[in-house]
Order: sequence, then C-alpha cells, then structure tokens
Amino acid sequence: MQWAAEQALAEGTVPDFRWLIASDVCKHCTHAGCLDVCPTGALFRTEFGTVVVQDEVCNGCGYCVAACPFGVIDKRKDPTTTGAARQVEIGIANKCTLCYDRISLDAKPACAQACPTTSIQFGDLDEMRERARERVEALHANGFTEARLYGANPNDGVGGTGSVFLLLDEPEVYGLPPDPIVTTHDLPDIFRKAGLAGLTMLAGAAVSFLGRGNS
Ligand code: SF4
Ligand code: SF4
Repeated sequence: MQWAAEQALAEGTVPDFRWLIASDVCKHCTHAGCLDVCPTGALFRTEFGTVVVQDEVCNGCGYCVAACPFGVIDKRKDPTTTGAARQVEIGIANKCTLCYDRISLDAKPACAQACPTTSIQFGDLDEMRERARERVEALHANGFTEARLYGANPNDGVGGTGSVFLLLDEPEVYGLPPDPIVTTHDLPDIFRKAGLAGLTMLAGAAVSFLGRGNS
C-alpha cells in the first residue's frame, strides 16, 4: 500500500482532491430571519443568545425553513423521541439548539464535548472569536493563505453569528453563502410601501365616490 502511494506520487497520478470538513449547523444569527417569521413563537432567543425551537409549540408551517439564509432548519421527516421518550411529530421544525438543555446546566454542547480533536470549541463568543483570529494568523504564517473566519463580522448581513467557523477556502466551497443577508431585511420597507399603496387606493376610491356624488 505504501509502495502504491509512493509510486502514484512519483508518477504524479495522486488524485487532486482534499478534505474540507465543517459542521453545517444553525449559525445562531444575531439578526435571525427564522425568528422574524415564526407565527407561533415556537422559535425564541434564549438567555445565551442562541435560537431554539420549542417543538411542542411549533405548528409545522415551515416559514422558518424558507427564511433561513443558510438552509440549516428543516421539517422533521422521521418521528423522533426526546430524552424524556416523548414522541416528536413529523413535520415540525428541527435544527441545532446548541444543546440548550446542556448549556443551561453549565455543560458544553455535545459536539464540543465529544470532538476528540477540539475542532469544535464552546465558550464566551468574544473569547472564541479572538482564539479563532489567532488560529487564522498561525495558519497564514504556515502558508494556508486562504484561511479565514466566517460569521465573525458583526457588520455582515446577519449581524454576525453565534457560531463562528474557520474556513480554509472561500465560503462557496463549503456551500455557504459568501454574503448572507437576513431574509426579512426588506420587510419594513415592503410593509411601508404596501401601506402607502393601500392608502392611495382608499384615496382613489374616496375621490371616485365624491365624483359620483357631484354628477
Ligand atoms: S442559521 Fe437559520 S435557523 Fe439558525 S438562527 Fe440563523 S436564520 Fe435561524
Ligand atoms: S415551522 Fe414551527 S418554528 Fe418554523 S415558523 Fe412555523 S411554527 Fe415557527
């Protein structure tokens, strides 16, 4: 096997590929479109700043699925049981909660606890961002010039994210939007224009009635 690998290297026939691995979880956006559109209040912002679905409140409308710019919330396709062995219905919203139950008890999320290489870390957001910036600098110094952080900019289209990712290439390579924008960004403007259009129609109808009254 070793010989085959060495021969492939010598012949220049080593496949041109690399492993780029990232967890595709909820980003816990500062400006979360899913929260804005949820009509039942099933989605809420926790005391930790994370975004969580309450499956007993969700009605399965799916508005949040369309509103997430990252495509990380979906409707359950299989019946699931919770820790209390309660059946959770098919069709209700499902996503990473950053282990709300665990962090409420001062424990790490299960992924951060279980990851053997500490590739997933959990802690104070500012501290995590600082640690990640130092890691990017170290990677740049070692020739990984494409290394970058994703979600660490509070001025991006979602106000920064609670889950920050260290990428080794452009976001698109990982299937991430390069410039995510909260999908409800234009809602206030749309409501304002719809209100103006409604008022204009009412004014037009009133003028029309007045015109008839005078004829
Ligand atoms: S990543 Fe999607 S599901 Fe998670 S908070 Fe942002 S908009 Fe909501
Ligand atoms: S599917 Fe559930 S969580 Fe999503 S918007 Fe509808 S009620 Fe809210």
